[in-house]
Amino acid sequence: MPIERIYHDFHVHVGESIGGYRLRDDFADLNLLRRPEIASLGVALGSIGAFVTQEAGTPLKDKYLRMKRVANRDFSGKVFWHLSPLYSEVEDIIALLDKDVDLKLYTCYREAGLYSSYEQIERWMQALAEHKTRILIHCEDEATVQEYSQRHPFHHPHDHFLRRPEIAELRAVERVVDLAIKYSHPVHIVHVSTPQAAILIQEAKKAFGGISCETAPHYLLYNDDMLRGVDAHRRICTPPFRAERSRGMLVELLQDGVFDILASDHCAFNDKDKDRFKDNPQKVPCGIAGIGELFASMHKNLVESGKISPDMLDRLTRINPARLMNLELQDEI
Ligand SMILES: [Zn+2]
Repeated sequence: MPIERIYHDFHVHVGESIGGYRLRDDFADLNLLRRPEIASLGVALGSIGAFVTQEAGTPLKDKYLRMKRVANRDFSGKVFWHLSPLYSEVEDIIALLDKDVDLKLYTCYREAGLYSSYEQIERWMQALAEHKTRILIHCEDEATVQEYSQRHPFHHPHDHFLRRPEIAELRAVERVVDLAIKYSHPVHIVHVSTPQAAILIQEAKKAFGGISCETAPHYLLYNDDMLRGVDAHRRICTPPFRAERSRGMLVELLQDGVFDILASDHCAFNDKDKDRFKDNPQKVPCGIAGIGELFASMHKNLVESGKISPDMLDRLTRINPARLMNLELQDEI
């Protein structure tokens, strides 16, 4: 089948290690999704947004340049880079900024070393005031996650749902959009999984147009039942799947145009790594696969059922992501 259309995936984890685990996929693995003979529905992957997470003891620049070399060599599409500076000076980061780069910060994962406080996020905004570099933010309030985690020990994969409640996302989004408005600093909230946070973002956009957000197909298609049953530990991802009522409301909010883009948050680990701590779910690496399904699953479940139009899916998976990644039309293929 010839490629008739393409989609872009703004949120993809490949080609690095996270929390000591090597991700399952490298840049080369994504080329399959660009091949017309296997591209389902005549739609193939165009460009991706990939992450570079700083590791202790290594300058972010070194890892970034290394990953960029690999991507240029192994992947035929374009890559936009989301850099997570965990131990960097502002000047080091400013030297790396160009039109293919933004930043990614986390309001949680203190133990894994990814955490930034709201004060640190504020300082980044102040330091980048001239550049106005967009900051992607994983919004789950660390203190809230700690509080609920203490109340719900991690015995079973479904406890993940109780340990990272919706209120954690809402609290972090509240703080982050306030900062974005205060400093007129562009932020993009990744993988919004709760209706309340989505509504808050919709309101905040009225005060400052530099706020954007995404949700991922798995929050629109599945609920917390995914964390029950055989091999539920393999489906542990963060934020967790939500209650059915929230899932349904999230679809309605998507229909209302609250989300700028759909992105997979593809973060696949090998089954061996997912299974290693099967009986100790707290140690299971968080993340699930999704890039190959981004367009097809949304088409099948939302377009074919009449919930959204083909044009809307095109906006959510191609036009708006291309804008966020500063792609020129000739870059798209
Ligand atoms: Zn992610």
